Amino acid sequence: MKKTVLVSGGAGFIGSHVAVELIQAGYEVVVADNFSNCDMTCYEGVKKITGRNDIPLVKMDFCDAEATEKLFSDYRIDAVIHFAAYKAVGESVLKPLKYYSNNIQSFLNVLETACNHGGCQVLFSSSATVYGEPEKLPVTEESPRQSATSPYGNTKQICEDMLRDTVHATEGLVKGIALRYFNPIGAHPSALIGELPRGVPNNLVPFITQTAIGKRECLSIFGNDYPTPDGTCQRDYIDIVDLAKAHVCAVTRMLEGKMKQPYEIFNIGTGRPVSVLELVKAFEKVNNLKLNYKFAPRRAGDVTAIWADPTHANEEMGWKAERTIEQTLASAWAWEKHIAGK
Ligand code: UDP
Repeated sequence: MKKTVLVSGGAGFIGSHVAVELIQAGYEVVVADNFSNCDMTCYEGVKKITGRNDIPLVKMDFCDAEATEKLFSDYRIDAVIHFAAYKAVGESVLKPLKYYSNNIQSFLNVLETACNHGGCQVLFSSSATVYGEPEKLPVTEESPRQSATSPYGNTKQICEDMLRDTVHATEGLVKGIALRYFNPIGAHPSALIGELPRGVPNNLVPFITQTAIGKRECLSIFGNDYPTPDGTCQRDYIDIVDLAKAHVCAVTRMLEGKMKQPYEIFNIGTGRPVSVLELVKAFEKVNNLKLNYKFAPRRAGDVTAIWADPTHANEEMGWKAERTIEQTLASAWAWEKHIAGK
């Protein structure tokens, strides 16, 4: 019988790409979302890409304990991938309690319900933000976590700890994996699903594509005086489809009993540092256009450079990032044109 995976926040950017890969790998998927930061576009896109019209969609909020309980009673859930969370770093500094209450409460309900239902496998979407400004590059899973610089980052650390402690307390009845994402970018090659930022994008690639299409006048590159080869910050940009495939590997590892520890952590990145300027140049080249950009002061809270050592995920999960930065940036541009209706 097919295993069923609940994808909380499954109508969002990462969740929808993960739903596609899970279905294509032979899993049943239940999508649950409160639509606080997305609309039906990506859910409809998932149905089109997979040719499946019967993907269960539950409109609910994981902060609602009763609704979470009902969801687990209505579906036989073998594993949960938890995405449902607020994610704007800047807003989290201004409205910390909004972030603590939503991000912590929703995961608490997921974990409590997983325990009440006799255990299940839980995959948590964490972030490289837990490493702060690393002393040594690239970062491995053993690199120390550093005090979070935003409430958003702090919720990622707290949720990792909630999962670790629950796994230990239940003696493995609940098993857990935390995937620490680096910088997910791009869109599905079909251009039917992708990122839909509300308002002015905070992240680099949506800002680039919106500038290229004319929605924004000019990209500001935050800082060109960093101690990096070209003075701009370096990140590890990971293709969204590659990232989604890592979730399939992790879920399969859990469901097939291949975990070496009941709680495991994996870095999900390429191992390739790319500077902001390099990314802009690559975007211009692969899409054959000129981008309007200028150098601006540094953005508060940005780290100089961070990229992953993905060896652990490569060797243990048999997962590896495959797409080139050019393919990824072409997919981001195709998606922007798709949503602009061009
Ligand atoms: N960035 C930029 N201009 C923008 C948005 C981002 O120069 O309009 C830079 C940012 O300073 C960082 C990199 O792009 O060095 C990636 O930022 P993003 O917000 O996408 O991800 P982060 O690494 O902060 O999670």
